[in-house]
Amino acid sequence: MATIFSRIVNGEIPSYKIAEDDRFYAFLDINPLAEGHTLVIPKVEVNYIFDLDPDTLSGLTLFAQRVAKAIDKAMPCKRVGVAVLGLEVPHAHIHLVPLNKESDIDFRKPKLKLTPERFTEIAQKISKEFK
Ligand code: AMP
Repeated sequence: MATIFSRIVNGEIPSYKIAEDDRFYAFLDINPLAEGHTLVIPKVEVNYIFDLDPDTLSGLTLFAQRVAKAIDKAMPCKRVGVAVLGLEVPHAHIHLVPLNKESDIDFRKPKLKLTPERFTEIAQKISKEFK
């Protein structure tokens, strides 16, 4: 069965898309730690990030770099933090989280509740900066 992230890539489930190419896809995390919290995934369905073939893993990192630069421009923050958990969704992904302080990337804290309009606005802002 396809993972929820493959279903997003295939357009069966909606997402707030930031960017994509033939191999990678970036979209807003629906339970964000901060405004602009983004997930970057390979389109290939592999559960564990360190099981990706080396070319896909390096490509994913380079794609995430471009997304992080777009987040940096669009969202006011000191840094874009990077995290890999993968405890919930069995499809490799990188979390990119705009940071102003260490606790902004504490996954135990309550997630933000944003309206669909705000998610759309944020996705458009970041997407516009993606080069
Ligand atoms: P983890 O696998 O532990 O890295 O967590 C999976 C992340 O995916 C969580 O932060 C969820 O909020 C996020 N997530 C799960 N389903 C969706 C979805 N349909 N759209 C966007 N983000 C999602």
